[in-house]
Amino acid sequence: MRILITGGAGFIGSHLCDHFLARGDEVIAMDNFLTGSPDNIAHLQKHPRFKFIRQDVTEFIRVDGYLDAVLHFASPASPRSYIAYPIQTLKVGALGTHKACGLARGKGARFLLASTSEVYGDPLVHPQREDYWGNVNPIGPRGVYDEAKRFAEAMTLAYRRAHNVDTRIVRIFNTYGPRNALDDGRVVPNFVAQALRGEPLTVHGDGAQTRSFTYVSDLVDGIARLLASSEAEPVNIGNPNEMTILTFAEKINAITGNSAGIIYQPRGVDDPNRRCPDISKARRVLGWEPKVSLDAGLEETIAYFAAKLKK
Ligand code: UDP
Repeated sequence: MRILITGGAGFIGSHLCDHFLARGDEVIAMDNFLTGSPDNIAHLQKHPRFKFIRQDVTEFIRVDGYLDAVLHFASPASPRSYIAYPIQTLKVGALGTHKACGLARGKGARFLLASTSEVYGDPLVHPQREDYWGNVNPIGPRGVYDEAKRFAEAMTLAYRRAHNVDTRIVRIFNTYGPRNALDDGRVVPNFVAQALRGEPLTVHGDGAQTRSFTYVSDLVDGIARLLASSEAEPVNIGNPNEMTILTFAEKINAITGNSAGIIYQPRGVDDPNRRCPDISKARRVLGWEPKVSLDAGLEETIAYFAAKLKK
């Protein structure tokens, strides 16, 4: 296949590049490095089947030759980054999705949208199934991301209905692993970096809010299966191993032998209280479920951040 990945220099985008190149595909990565990094794709620059185009996907996208698939992964994705870049986040979800859908239509390519568990907002239904419509505050600081992705889902299905584009939508839950930016403010890089520096871990609020963490290779496997499937409606991909942020902090301190403990900081506005995917649909239609345990995934991730911090 010949695949375009927008956001190809991002955390997840770069792992997708690796995956499709390893199976023999040709990959064109597009990124404007707003939150992605050249470091994430440096190892691919000489690969014969890899091409990089530096571009903001909110502008008209031109790609020479045919494409079999367009994977739209460009977007700031951590709360810190989408709050820092609110207008770019809205633009890439809205204008960027429009351009990427238009490209897929023009090339007769399959289109896969990277959506998010944030479409469920601060969910009132637990665990979250794909048929839950969510509880989103459109005018809060997280609204720029949540509404952009909700719009992007609507745009994707509009292109399916109006133009018969063959579309897929993955709703991605919290994902971690190597190439997660150290400074993007997310809980995994924050806690791991703090622990490795021997600093106290910054728990927001009382830490009773929950998340569940998916290792990036499990996510990539789920996305590849979704792309190959015929499932047009959104599919949750995430690990259903739910835990409180306080428990997670204690786990990181225990694994790293960090004795600096925990400090409590104010909670972000509209920070979801509970989040956990219902993955029965992914199990049923994709035969997918996560394989990497939190301990195994954290071992890889801690090793990656330890090497980064030494540089
Ligand atoms: N969090 C925390 N300390 C940190 C960073 C995050 O307690 O240093 C909490 C945050 O308030 C949220 C959870 O960890 O409840 C996950 O935050 P993250 O930014 O990783 O992503 P989110 O799931 O909110 O998109």
